[in-house]
Amino acid sequence: MAELDKLKIYIDGKFVNSRSGEYFESFNPFTGKPWCLVPRGNKNDVALAVAAAKKSFNSGEWSMMTPTARGSLLRKLGDLVAKNSTKLAEMEVKDNGKLIAEMAMQLKYVPQWYYYYGGLADKIEGAVLPIDKSDLFTYTTHEPLGVVGMIIPWNSPLLLVTWKLAPALAAGNTVVIKPSEYTSASVLEFVKLVDEAGFPTGVVNVVTGYGKEAGEPLVVHPDVAKIAFTGGAKSGTNVYEKAAASLKKVTLELGGKSPNIVFDDCNIDNAVKGAISGIFAATGQTCIAGSRVLVQKRIHDEFVTKLVEFAKTARLGNPMLMETEVGPVTTMPQFNKILDYLKIARNEGAQCVLGGHKADRSECGNGWFVEPTIYTGVNNSMRIAQEEVFGPVLSVIPFEDEDEAIEIANDVIYGLAAGVWTTSIRRAIEVPKKIRAGCIWVNTYRAVSFMAPFGGYKRSGLGRENGKDAIKEYLQTKTVWVSTATETPNPFVMK
Ligand code: NAD
Repeated sequence: MAELDKLKIYIDGKFVNSRSGEYFESFNPFTGKPWCLVPRGNKNDVALAVAAAKKSFNSGEWSMMTPTARGSLLRKLGDLVAKNSTKLAEMEVKDNGKLIAEMAMQLKYVPQWYYYYGGLADKIEGAVLPIDKSDLFTYTTHEPLGVVGMIIPWNSPLLLVTWKLAPALAAGNTVVIKPSEYTSASVLEFVKLVDEAGFPTGVVNVVTGYGKEAGEPLVVHPDVAKIAFTGGAKSGTNVYEKAAASLKKVTLELGGKSPNIVFDDCNIDNAVKGAISGIFAATGQTCIAGSRVLVQKRIHDEFVTKLVEFAKTARLGNPMLMETEVGPVTTMPQFNKILDYLKIARNEGAQCVLGGHKADRSECGNGWFVEPTIYTGVNNSMRIAQEEVFGPVLSVIPFEDEDEAIEIANDVIYGLAAGVWTTSIRRAIEVPKKIRAGCIWVNTYRAVSFMAPFGGYKRSGLGRENGKDAIKEYLQTKTVWVSTATETPNPFVMK
C-alpha cells in the first residue's frame, strides 16, 4: 500500500512536525479508509504557537500596521482562496464526505469574507466624546485583543475558520487555529495561502490534534486573550468553564434543534423543499439543521405524503459526483450516534415513515451512510425532538394553531435558527418576533452571508459571527483622557 501523505503544522511562519513526532489517520468517509496522516499536536506545540503569536502581536508589525494595509492583505488572501477553491473543496470532501456540489460553491464563496472584512479593517472608528468636564479632550479607540485561539469543528472546516479569522485579522489580532481532528487537511492547505500572501511571521499559526491534547491547552493558556469556538454543546460548555479561570473572552457557536414551522396557508411544495433542505442537505450535519418540522394539523397528512415522496428521490452515493444529493456521515462515532438515535426514536414510539436504518445501497460503497429518515407522531418531549442528532433524521410534530406552534418551537434548550412557511404577511412578520432564536428564515431555509450576523440564543451559543457585529467580538475599547489645562487642579479630588 502506498504511504500516506504526512501533513505538517504551521508555527511562526514555518511548516514543521509536531513535537511528539506522532500522527493520526484522517479518514475518507465514503471509502472508510485513511487518506493522510495528521500531526498529533499537544501542549508543547500549542505553547510554541502561542509564543509565536504573542511575539508577533507585541512586535506591532501586524497590530500596528495601518488598517488599510491590513485590509489589502486580507483581500489578497481572498484572491488566493478563490484561485485554489477547487483544490480546497476536494480536500474537504475527502475529509468530511460533504457533497462536492455544496463544497465547491462554499469554497468559491469563502473569499467574500476576506473582501468584506478587508474593507471593514479601516472603518473601525473611535469617537471624540463631548465630555462634560472642562480642559479635557477625551476620545475612544478600538484595539485588538491580542492572541486569539480558534477551535473548529468538522462540518464546514474552512468556512468556519474564515468566519473567525477574517474579522479577527481585520481587527489586528494574531491567531492560533486548532482544526477538528477529523478535518485538518484543508486548513493546513489554506495556511499555505496565508504564507504566500505575505502575512508577517506568526500572525496565523495552526496546531492540529485532539480536543483534549491540543484544544484544551489553547483554552487554558495564560497568553491567549480570547477563544472563538464552534462545536458541540458539551465541548463548548467545557471550553467556557476552562476559559473562565483566566477570564478569557469567549464566543461559542454551538448546536441546535431548529424548528421549520409549516402553516396551513403556505405554498406546500415550497415548504416541502424547505424541510428537505433543512434536514437532508449536508446529511443533516449542520448546526442549523431544521430537524423538527412542525406542521399545522389541517395540512399534516398532505404535507407528509409529499415530503416522503420527495425524500425518496434523494440520490445517495459518492460525494465527489455532482449529481449526488446525500453523502455519507463524516465520522464513525457520529454514524454510530445516529444509529443509536434511530433506536431511541423507535423505543419512544415515533412512527417511521421513511428510512430508519443505515443505507445498504450499492452506490454507498463502504461509506458510513444512513437512509434519509422521517418520523411522524413525534411528541416534542421525546428525546428525538429535544436532542441534536446531527444526521439525516427528521421529526414531524403536528400543531393546532399559531400559539401552539410558537410554544413547541421555543420548547427546547437551543435557539439557533427557525424556518416559517406562510403566505400571510402578518405571520411572516409577527411569528419571527416570538421565536427565541438568532436566525429566522421566512419561506426559505439555510441562507447565510458574510454581511448577516449569525449566532445562537439560549444554549446555542454566545456572541455573533458575520456582519459588522462580528468584528466587535475581536476588539476592546480604550478611552484616552488628555488634559489641556495649564495647571493641574486639586490632586485630592476626583476630576
Ligand atoms: P466537537 O465539540 O466534538 O469538536 C469541535 C472542536 O472542539 C474540535 O476541534 C475538537 O477537537 C475541539 N474540542 C473538543 N473537546 C475540546 C475541549 N475539551 N477543549 C478544547 N477543544 C475541544 O464538535 P464536532 O463534533 O466537531 O462538531 C459538531 C458540532 O458542532 C455540532 O454539535 C454542531 O451543532 C456544532 N456546530 C455549530 C455551528 C454553529 O455555528 N453554531 C456550526 C457548525 C457546527
